[in-house]
Amino acid sequence: MLAPFTAGWQSTDVHPLVIDRSEGSYVYDIEGKKYLDSLAGLWCTALGGSEPRLVKAATDQLHKLPFYHSFWNRTTKPSLDLAKEMLSMFTAREMGKVFFTNSGSEANDSQVKLVWYYNNALGRPDKKKFIARSKSYHGSTLISASLSGLPPLHQKFDLPAPFVLHTDCPHYWRFHLPGETEEEFATRLANNLENLILKEGPETIAAFIAEPVMGAGGVIPPPKTYFEKVQAIVKKYDILFIADEVITAFGRLGTMFGCDMYNIKPDLVSVAKALSSAYVPIGATLVSPEISDVIHSQSNKLGSFAHGFTYSGHPVACAVAIEALKIYQERNIPGHVKQISPRFQEGVKAFAGSPIVGEIRGVGLILATEFADNRSPNNPFPAEWGVGTIFGAECQKRGMLVRVAGDNIMMSPPLIMTPDEVEELVSIYGAAIKATEERVA
Ligand code: PLP
Repeated sequence: MLAPFTAGWQSTDVHPLVIDRSEGSYVYDIEGKKYLDSLAGLWCTALGGSEPRLVKAATDQLHKLPFYHSFWNRTTKPSLDLAKEMLSMFTAREMGKVFFTNSGSEANDSQVKLVWYYNNALGRPDKKKFIARSKSYHGSTLISASLSGLPPLHQKFDLPAPFVLHTDCPHYWRFHLPGETEEEFATRLANNLENLILKEGPETIAAFIAEPVMGAGGVIPPPKTYFEKVQAIVKKYDILFIADEVITAFGRLGTMFGCDMYNIKPDLVSVAKALSSAYVPIGATLVSPEISDVIHSQSNKLGSFAHGFTYSGHPVACAVAIEALKIYQERNIPGHVKQISPRFQEGVKAFAGSPIVGEIRGVGLILATEFADNRSPNNPFPAEWGVGTIFGAECQKRGMLVRVAGDNIMMSPPLIMTPDEVEELVSIYGAAIKATEERVA
């Protein structure tokens, strides 16, 4: 198997960790060893690994109608019902329509096509560039990898595409100037964004895309006042704001959407992952009424809106997602996250004084630990020491899986975690920190 995001030397054909089954917040490998799944798969199994209502929703739908498409004004009831429910749940601002995809990458690729189609319809053929941020992750298809601000996604792939520009990563700890407050840092970044827009020409910039909290780039919550300032800039130049909520939607931060947390009023939103608690692949873009109206009238002129996938609005995926959204609301999952996340955050952050920890940052049920010498962003450990890898292995030995990216460790556990499971996570984390300190010192 040519495994995703795996180096040749790590080839899954050699010593792969083969996961066999899941139960709540835990997964089991083929040898029967149990692990607390602190990343919820890939930031996605929000309702854990054994929610019977999702399984029933899938099997009921498979029996009734396993497939029909949504092309040419044909569709299925689950896709209509899911779109309606998503529009009613997203309250940061009014949204008009939902377009279904199979993944977050496809959702972000679709955003680019929607925006280009929209600007062409408005007679603005030059307004096509996208601004994304360094260290962002928006997916791995050609366009979504171009939007992403992570060099390994570009190197040797001839990316990014030329219409994509990258602006500053809003990581205060790493990039603030001596004496600069978070608010001043946010102002400087907003000024840099404005300067980039002016340099390129505002008439050439179509959209700005941002994750409310950066995920795969290292879990980077925005500095204070950042989104307020950035939104003011993009609005000033008639640039659309796309919120990539593929990780943050459906309760991860303790609010139903990341936009609620940071008072973001987006024109377009991407979701995936927790939309179905990852039980089946599905993603979507939410489109503002202003944009969907223009797209409708343009498609009337052209004879069709010629974009879509065989599986857009797949009835089984939609049926599972409808059930997931019901559970988020009935069980008040964002409220549960608000209740358990302070202990998760404080429990882990209690180890911030460790001599090998640079920064621990996070919000709600998402968190990263960055290892560095002397707690300084300027003193990374030599890569060949593999401090992050050692920590990941120490966690795994003790029955917990974390995401390791160099010396950055990330966690985003299932949202249904119990307080006891949070204690277990904190305890394994602490023991693994101590063991790593001993091996590194
Ligand atoms: N956007 C964000 C913020 C993500 O975190 C991811 C995946 O991790 C994606 C997009 C891509 O989603 P997918 O892997 O479903 O294509």
